[in-house]
Formats: sequence, structure tokens, C-alpha cells
Amino acid sequence: MLIRQLFDQKSCTYTYLLADEESREAVLIDTVVEKLDDYHRLVQELDLKLLYTLETHTHADHITAAGDIREQLGAASLVGRQSLANCVSATFEHGDEITFGQHKLKVIYTPGHTDDSYSFFIPGPQAMLFSGDTLLIRGTGRTDFQGGDARRQYHSLQSEILVLPEDTLVYPGHDYKGWSVSTIGEERRCNPRLLLGSEDAYIAHMSELNLPNPKMMDVAVPANQQCGKRPFVDPGF
Ligand code: FE
Repeated sequence: MLIRQLFDQKSCTYTYLLADEESREAVLIDTVVEKLDDYHRLVQELDLKLLYTLETHTHADHITAAGDIREQLGAASLVGRQSLANCVSATFEHGDEITFGQHKLKVIYTPGHTDDSYSFFIPGPQAMLFSGDTLLIRGTGRTDFQGGDARRQYHSLQSEILVLPEDTLVYPGHDYKGWSVSTIGEERRCNPRLLLGSEDAYIAHMSELNLPNPKMMDVAVPANQQCGKRPFVDPGF
């Protein structure tokens, strides 16, 4: 499988391009609208057929390129069933499988960062998890807005994520220090948020973070509910 990890410096977002090398079928996870030209270029240079764009959740810190990619490249835009974006091509839910060439992404519902948070798992000799903002490298996504819930996130982590094979590669939705990949085993041993010891300790810790809202939140959330198309603003003349 071909995998490319792309980074948006402004929001520290990782976008993943996954492709089947034989059929050339590809998917993009968590696109960023400012990087649209890069996606066009990669799809062309690597001779890929882009089937889908997927969102791990409705983002508050950047605007998706999914709507533009659907218009320009014909790729269907997919989001979780709980998302409020009604412009999408289709929704997925827990247990679904998204196929590209001979590869399958297993859809895992992992609410907590938001109500519509999902992770994607590719089994096999080198298993991979695209964990969105549920599990970050040495961290976890904040749980204080957009239907966030620390208790649900704790259970998503314990019941859905940490039960995966130890050597599964973990590709997060963001990293603010430039770390690009980890493993389930490494995070179990070294992630301070996974070492708090109990559900109550996790909830208490998350409630004490007091983080400022993302700068783009008021723009990004409504835009992402419109597949990245900014609402028309009447200029008033
Ligand atoms: Fe997020």
C-alpha cells in the first residue's frame, strides 16, 4: 500500500493519502482546503484514482477540501453518521468497511473528542490506525466542545483503540511537536493520558485543561458542515 503523510503547518493537521498500488484506487483522510493544489498534484503525479475523502470528525481548526475535491476530482465525500454535514455523498458508521483496491479500512466509532469522531483501522502484517483526534502521540484530543465528552473518550480509548495489536502503527490527526507516527504499544507505555489509572482520573484531568478555543472554530465548524464551502456572505451593495 502506498501511504503519504501531508502536513498543514497552520493547523498542524496531518492528511493521509492511501492508495492501492495495483488498481491505483486511493482515499484521502482529513483534507485541508489550502492544500488542494497539493492533492491535485499528487493524484496526477502518482497516477491515482481518488475514490473518497474521509473525515475523522467535524474539525474546528481547519476547513476541509472535501467539497472542492468532489467537484474537481469526482471523489465521494464521506463522514460519520453523527456529523451535521448534510452536503456529503454518504455517511459511514461503526463496523463499515471502506474498500480501495485490495485494501479495506475498518470504521471504528470513537466518540469523545467530538460526537462524530471515528478512527480507521487497516489490519494485516503491518496494521495501521488513523486515529483522528481520539489518540494523539503522547496525548489525546480535547473533549470540551462539539459534543466532546471525556468519559466517552476514555471508553473509546480503552474498548476500541488500546485493544488493537501492540505493533499497530498509529497515525494521528495532528501533531504539534512534529512527531509523525507511533504504535499502540508505545502509547500504552508512554502516553501520560493513558497512564492516569482510572476513568475518574481521566475525566478530572481533561476538565482541568482550560484550553482556549481554536482560532478558526467559528468559521471552520459551519464551513465543514457545508463540506468546506464557506457560506455566502452578502456584501451589502
Ligand atoms: Fe479535532
